[in-house]
Amino acid sequence: MDALHNSTSMSGAYDGTDLTSLSWLEQLWVQWYVMIDNPTIATGLMSFLLHEFVYFGRSLPWIIIDAMPYFRRWKLQPNKVPTPQEQWECTKQVLFSHFTIELPAIWLFHPVAEALGMRTHHVPLPGFKEMAPQIFFFFVFEDFFHYVAHQALHTGVLYKHIHKIHHKYSAPFGLAAEYAHPAEVFILGAGTICGPLLYCYFTQNLHIFTVYLWIVLRLFQAVDAHSGYDFPWSLHNIVPFWSGAEHHDFHHMAFTNNFSTSFRWWDYMLGTDDKYRAYRARVKAMKKKGMTAEEQRELERKLMDEVEKEGIAAEAEVERTAGNFFKAKAA
Ligand SMILES: [Zn+2]
Ligand SMILES: [Zn+2]
Repeated sequence: MDALHNSTSMSGAYDGTDLTSLSWLEQLWVQWYVMIDNPTIATGLMSFLLHEFVYFGRSLPWIIIDAMPYFRRWKLQPNKVPTPQEQWECTKQVLFSHFTIELPAIWLFHPVAEALGMRTHHVPLPGFKEMAPQIFFFFVFEDFFHYVAHQALHTGVLYKHIHKIHHKYSAPFGLAAEYAHPAEVFILGAGTICGPLLYCYFTQNLHIFTVYLWIVLRLFQAVDAHSGYDFPWSLHNIVPFWSGAEHHDFHHMAFTNNFSTSFRWWDYMLGTDDKYRAYRARVKAMKKKGMTAEEQRELERKLMDEVEKEGIAAEAEVERTAGNFFKAKAA
């Protein structure tokens, strides 16, 4: 296959490729690039559409679950169910930033990928054995990047002017995963994108299809972590180091602890989950006391109120330090 084809047209790109030997998915892949006949637009548009469909597609079941009282028993903060109005406001904000920031950037995707030597329109697509270790590396890279950058966003000026927007919801819901300041989308998005870019630069062996699969999984992770629900069959109950909603919901409720995205290990090893673990231990101890379900719910609600009050005080303290920063600069 000739990789050095004209960058504004697909003519000749598939010369010498036996199209009949391709799988159904690979044929679709080829058809997309041939139909659009401009690799920059084909890659950019596919990236944008994939993001929209997966983000809102994955949020939809959570919207339905929020509308059904039956599921309230698994809601982490059952007294705080988002109203349709809140969800609609959130959707408008997220769509606004997708269309004003992400859409104009689609022109960059293909040139950057090609410059780093990433395979794009090329077939065959990579197999599971090639993709699995690469995606695992992207998960580990993103999780550590996010752990560090997210803590930085919890300091004075960065919090007050950027990250505060994402903390509007102390009880998050799926759609709120990307509800954030554009600068935050840019800073934390770097953790998702830089793993593949660095990997490609150093190994010269990456297909954009693998990056797309990684982004789909990362979107599932982000939307689910904000869902506000913890089921007995949730992933962290099977894979104990997986974070999930049970971990991130506490971050929104308590305003502290649990800074990572996918895995619990950094928060655990570096002690930034001490309050979370103390809270879980108290809930567990309470459940052992043989109280009725109603008494348990009542006590758990009290505990949540306590944690949330502490969180509000901690948030005010962070914002106060931001004020001092500007005063010190002006002096
Ligand atoms: Zn935060
Ligand atoms: Zn969050």
